[in-house]
Amino acid sequence: MKKILQDLSYAETEVLMLSMGEKKFRAKQLFEGLVQGKTVSGITSLSKALKARLLEEYEDEPVKIKEIFHSSDGTEKYLFELSDGNLIEGVLMKYKYGYTQCVSTQVGCRMGCKFCASTLGGLVRNLTSGEILAQILVVNALHANDEEVKGRGKDARAVTNIVLMGSGEPLDNYGETLRFLQNVTASDGLNVSARNISLSTCGIVPKMYELANAGIPVNLTVSLHATDDETRARVMPIAKAYKISEILKACAYYFEKTGRRYYFEYTLIDGENCDETHARALVTLLKGKPCHVNLIRLNEVKERSLKATGEKAAYRFLGYLEKNGLSATLRRQIGSDIGGACGQLRASYLE
Ligand code: SAH
Repeated sequence: MKKILQDLSYAETEVLMLSMGEKKFRAKQLFEGLVQGKTVSGITSLSKALKARLLEEYEDEPVKIKEIFHSSDGTEKYLFELSDGNLIEGVLMKYKYGYTQCVSTQVGCRMGCKFCASTLGGLVRNLTSGEILAQILVVNALHANDEEVKGRGKDARAVTNIVLMGSGEPLDNYGETLRFLQNVTASDGLNVSARNISLSTCGIVPKMYELANAGIPVNLTVSLHATDDETRARVMPIAKAYKISEILKACAYYFEKTGRRYYFEYTLIDGENCDETHARALVTLLKGKPCHVNLIRLNEVKERSLKATGEKAAYRFLGYLEKNGLSATLRRQIGSDIGGACGQLRASYLE
């Protein structure tokens, strides 16, 4: 694989241009073209000769949209192809205030969660920061001329919010994920506010502390899915490495450092974690903490035997949490007609 220009910050792009004997303003032309989602060959302000030199070493299009699936509710699901032929997926959800894109951080995943399709074939490889970023760049370019986007102002970009909830465990690819966060929030780059970015982790505790200290206060979301370590370990092998109590301590530290409340994802799995006893235990565990609980109804994955909770039971669970003072919501199911759950699309494609 060649190198990836989207891995570079603006300052690093300048260094590159100077090292190639070019003037500084070429870095601006190159960087701005890439930020607009252009390929190197598509940047008209650069000479053919310079582009040819760049393309000897760098990928022209590190992330390509291979297929788009449209849901009846407007949600789009993408199958992206990387330059080595690997496939990853992403989702775009359209809201009134803007578009939220769900991006992947790894090809596959090695966390082994029992309900998740991303981990079925294990980890193939980490994405580079530029491959994470380029998922957003190509989607911004795809939607640059949408009426809704233009209506938001002259310099508006399609993707206003980012969730790191696609395939992969972001904190298992910490270095590249952090670099991505630095570059995507940079004022000379896409300039997305950390407040508009959510990072979801299965709870790799030491990395949660590192993230708290990194100075990019994104919304931290932990996939909890159970209220005791034993039950959690049945569906999430990572629970054998880190206890819920340790996760809660790391969350408290995150709040202390960033001032941001944190989030928990709790996927309701029939017969596993969604009786009233579990709701009560969840209240006991989280009451009074500066957090919010996102309930998710399991998106059934055909390779897995776990079953979703009925809608009524899900609302009952939510009602119990709310009545007992937890801030909670049941995630609206969107895009389920296009295989919205992590890894489903890639899994069916590989098949
Ligand atoms: N590795 C990270 C982020 C990716 S998964 C993490 O574990 O948080 C994003 C969220 O979707 C997680 O909460 C995950 O547990 C949940 N998820 C995965 N597969 C799912 C499925 N089939 N149905 C419902 N939620 C699922």
